[in-house]
Amino acid sequence: MTKYIFVTGGVVSSLGKGIASASIGLLLKSRGFKVTIQKLDPYINVDPGTMSPYQHGEVYVTEDGAETDLDLGHYERFTGLTMTQDNNVTAGRIYYSVIAKERRGEYLGKTVQVVPHITDAIKASITKLASKDHVDVVIVEVGGTVGDIEGLPFLEAIRQLRNELGRGNALNIHLTLVPYIKAAEELKTKPTQHSVGKLREIGLQPEVLICRTEKPFSEMVRQKIAQFCNVEPDAVIQALDVADIYEVPLLFNRQRLDETILRHLGLASAAHDLVEWRTRVVERAVNPKRRVTIAVVGKYVQLQDAYKSIYEALRHGGLAHEAAVDIRKVDAEKLTKDGVEEALSGADGILVPGGFGHRGIEGKLEAITFARQREIPYFGLCLGMQCAVIEFARNVVGLKGANSTEFDATTPHPVISLLEEQKRVTDLGGTMRLGAYACRLQKGTKAAEAYGAAEIRERHRHRYEFNNTYREAFAKQGMMVSGRYEPADLVELVELRDHPWFVACQYHPEFRSRPLEPHPLFQAFVGACVHDR
Ligand code: GLN
Repeated sequence: MTKYIFVTGGVVSSLGKGIASASIGLLLKSRGFKVTIQKLDPYINVDPGTMSPYQHGEVYVTEDGAETDLDLGHYERFTGLTMTQDNNVTAGRIYYSVIAKERRGEYLGKTVQVVPHITDAIKASITKLASKDHVDVVIVEVGGTVGDIEGLPFLEAIRQLRNELGRGNALNIHLTLVPYIKAAEELKTKPTQHSVGKLREIGLQPEVLICRTEKPFSEMVRQKIAQFCNVEPDAVIQALDVADIYEVPLLFNRQRLDETILRHLGLASAAHDLVEWRTRVVERAVNPKRRVTIAVVGKYVQLQDAYKSIYEALRHGGLAHEAAVDIRKVDAEKLTKDGVEEALSGADGILVPGGFGHRGIEGKLEAITFARQREIPYFGLCLGMQCAVIEFARNVVGLKGANSTEFDATTPHPVISLLEEQKRVTDLGGTMRLGAYACRLQKGTKAAEAYGAAEIRERHRHRYEFNNTYREAFAKQGMMVSGRYEPADLVELVELRDHPWFVACQYHPEFRSRPLEPHPLFQAFVGACVHDR
């Protein structure tokens, strides 16, 4: 029988519930259990695909083409599992399905209500995962903070589900904050007590508390939290700030969180195996042999989460070379021809990430010219590939005014243009070219060398595409197509023939990179940055 772990958060947001859930996933997997992780998001958007990075951070794309919450990226990176659409459920998706059902007449005669209809749909989306993948444990992370109005249907669904599952089959883990008050020189437990009290009002009693804290707390503080919150003292976990997020599973393991979880769920297991994680991820991350600086030139560099998977994938590429990657965040909107030297000098490599809209494009083009002319390794992702094509068109092929039709509908040289299949699209939600497609690699290219394969699969999220009319003219001048989606003859990868490492892809390789399996292109890019300097 499948067991369930529900992860909630209290006191404040941004406590790292996603990383905690992913870490618990890794711990259980390292003990031989088959797990999956689901994120429940209480907002009304059907998915985060239409939200701005300011609101939401990165949109993480799954193999099956779902636009999802960035926590799914943590789940994949920590556990190595592949997430799907079913692993991210929003209130919007739930309501959408219930309302569609009502319109079809499937509730005929009834008043459709939050309880039981919405809560039933939430429960069904949770239990579906268990039956679909035959997993031992489903970890369910609830977005938001306990006390939010919009989270209530989700918590009520969990309360009902716990009742139906019976004792020993489900467990609640609650993340809280234990703040340190400087003036009093004390760690304060009251916010935790209040937030657990709030959960109890809803009918949920957590069995485990994970307490974020800046300072280690004393045995007395632990006992106090345990007593006031009705949990066993060894189920009060101290989540001290760590230098590297990949240390979190080890931090939990040292406090025997995995044993506590298994005991509550009545699961027996062999010893854990975290050796690879410790030696190949954490130790390398904490004790690098060298450092490289990579400039990321984007529009959302001031936000921590907008390019999450890219920053992580760069770190993974670094792990493969025992290198720490220092990321220099360069605001594309502020980058001008005169400032490019100062902004990029000393960078060992330059990366331009994906994006939408014309803001910052000219700055990105300046950065690409700089990388191309100075022979600095360049890696372009999605929009970063399209910009590399525009830059090459204007400055090497001599196509004045070349552009993407996304930014200039009347450009004389539409080197990037709307995908054929996109021409009939009117709705903006979930309608891009999304998810994994095959890509055939050209022998003898840097991409083929990096992958060591003839065919690969990568995830996409775009509407615009390299315009094939220009392929030959580009090749003549030294920009080669190194990968194609054969069925529709789409350009997926380009690279420069006469440059140490200049590779740009239409897809998003960052979503497939994991600390234990760095993505081949990120590994090769960081390698070029390390060795070419
Ligand atoms: N805006 C471009 C497109 O839609 C690039 C998208 C992206 O970088 N994800 O094709």
